[in-house]
Amino acid sequence: MSDVVLKGLRKSFGALEVIKGVDLHVASGEFCVFVGPSGCGKSTLLRMISGLEEQTSGMIEIGGRDVSRAEPKDRGIAMVFQSYALYPHLTVRENIGFGLSLARRPKAEIAEKVAEVARVLQLEDYLDRKPKALSGGQRQRVAIGRSIIRDPQVFLFDEPLSNLDAALRAQMRIELTELHARLGTTMIYVTHDQVEAMTMADKIVVLNGGRIEQVGAPMDLYDNPATPFVAGFIGSPK
Ligand code: ADP
Ligand code: MG
Repeated sequence: MSDVVLKGLRKSFGALEVIKGVDLHVASGEFCVFVGPSGCGKSTLLRMISGLEEQTSGMIEIGGRDVSRAEPKDRGIAMVFQSYALYPHLTVRENIGFGLSLARRPKAEIAEKVAEVARVLQLEDYLDRKPKALSGGQRQRVAIGRSIIRDPQVFLFDEPLSNLDAALRAQMRIELTELHARLGTTMIYVTHDQVEAMTMADKIVVLNGGRIEQVGAPMDLYDNPATPFVAGFIGSPK
């Protein structure tokens, strides 16, 4: 059970309200994509779910637990950012295992978990390399590996592919979709890219000016956009 429930979530920065009452249920195991134009509040919403930003009001539940005031590390989530944030002086093996080393897990356990993660992410041949000797896509996979190793219930991604070129983005879309199928974890994925939303999502949440415009499966939104904004954004003819 790792569904994510948002109830009446609001956020203001000073006098500026940027999230204006969001209610949402992301089902356990769902690949949910938040899409919307720049500045509509996608990152702020994700940062509140992760606990990096405190909501002004409202409630957040993860896996049936009220985590509204919980520390990020106690929420059972992993956050993957667009910058890779790998340690340049550590090997792929050490980068992936870093969190477990920090937690002083036994060496044998770390080695076993790193091997498992490397297999899932197809990084087995690169374990002894440093980040500078990897391609952009491989670095992105190592960053994901660092999160996976802690067995999070929920993955949060904030535009993880936006620094990659078009060919690599297309490849990573497929890889992330496959990864989701293998892990079966709940994923909340933020993007301003309609193609990513349409091809990867089980459920799309269209945000506009700090509010949800519409929630639905990709083809629902395409066939039955609720507003002209959704129609324009998703690219359907209405
Ligand atoms: P998105 O990720 O959809 O591009 P953001 O969540 O980053 O949008 O930003 C939503 C709005 O909140 C923007 O108007 C942005 O300027 C504002 N904002 C975000 N973070 C802060 C902050 N720390 N202080 C003040 N305003 C902020
Ligand atoms: Mg953003």
